[in-house]
Amino acid sequence: ATPLSVMVGTGKGAQAGILIRSAEALETAHKLDTVVLDKTGTVTAGRPVLTDVHTADGFSEDEVLRLVAAAEADSEHPLATAVTEGARERGLAVPAASGFDSVTGKGVQATVDGRAVLVGTARLLADVGIGTADLTAIADTFSAQGKTPILAAVDGRPAGVLAVADTVKDDSVQAIAALHRLGLATVILTGDNARTAAAIAAQVGVRRVLAEVLPEHKADEIRRLQDEGRTVGMVGDGINDAPALAQADVGLAIGTGTDVAIEAADITLISGSLSGVVTAIRLSRATMRNIK
Ligand code: ADP
Ligand code: MG
Repeated sequence: ATPLSVMVGTGKGAQAGILIRSAEALETAHKLDTVVLDKTGTVTAGRPVLTDVHTADGFSEDEVLRLVAAAEADSEHPLATAVTEGARERGLAVPAASGFDSVTGKGVQATVDGRAVLVGTARLLADVGIGTADLTAIADTFSAQGKTPILAAVDGRPAGVLAVADTVKDDSVQAIAALHRLGLATVILTGDNARTAAAIAAQVGVRRVLAEVLPEHKADEIRRLQDEGRTVGMVGDGINDAPALAQADVGLAIGTGTDVAIEAADITLISGSLSGVVTAIRLSRATMRNIK
């Protein structure tokens, strides 16, 4: 593109709340054929709330919730916030935890009231040899509803499953439909479990789902799509998303997301909504048409 058309395109973008870092980003966006969407905080609002507490035999709801909330107190994960808020709303006194440790993309562990509390995915519990069969059926029903199940073990015994639900952003459905009309394929990429991701994907009309992807593997999934011959845009908000944003042909950061994601991105969508992706691609196409 000519410097002038790029300047005009970049200026129009800024007016629409789309910050384009380089001429190259504006030029490449018109070639995209695939848009990969992070789930939490990108397709969904990223403000999950606690909806259910299911307990294993021998545990009460309040007991499980206060132990889990205590273990999650030092985690910055949105799921942790949902749990600690849920405990607060129920008026529970949450004890202090010690020995907090987080396992990226899987969960947390801590000692609470002298008990070893492990909280997160079924895989996290299975990794240390805790059988989750009894909890898995419950977890699956939560997932089928698009909720994220959080499994808990206490002193090596399964203790319960919490469910946390996030809402799809107002305009996600519309924006994804518009991307499809523009001829782009969409994919949801998430660390969340496959069933939950599939339920959210169905709600917003996305047909391809890459789930249970650990943070360090998100960029690999982008590379794999590029190896299929695709030109890939990646939209994300989290610290975890930064390498994938950098790997994508065009990385688009949600403006309400983390600074790390914004720094790794080529384009920042100030409004925080997915319709910005549609606008950015339309703008790029219009800019490139003008100079051909
Ligand atoms: P996403 O890609 O959706 O942002 P993450 O990679 O951060 O997800 O986490 C993947 C999964 O690991 C979560 O869906 C959750 O099941 C589990 N997990 C991660 N951190 C926590 C936590 N602090 N408490 C409970 N579960 C967690
Ligand atoms: Mg996210």
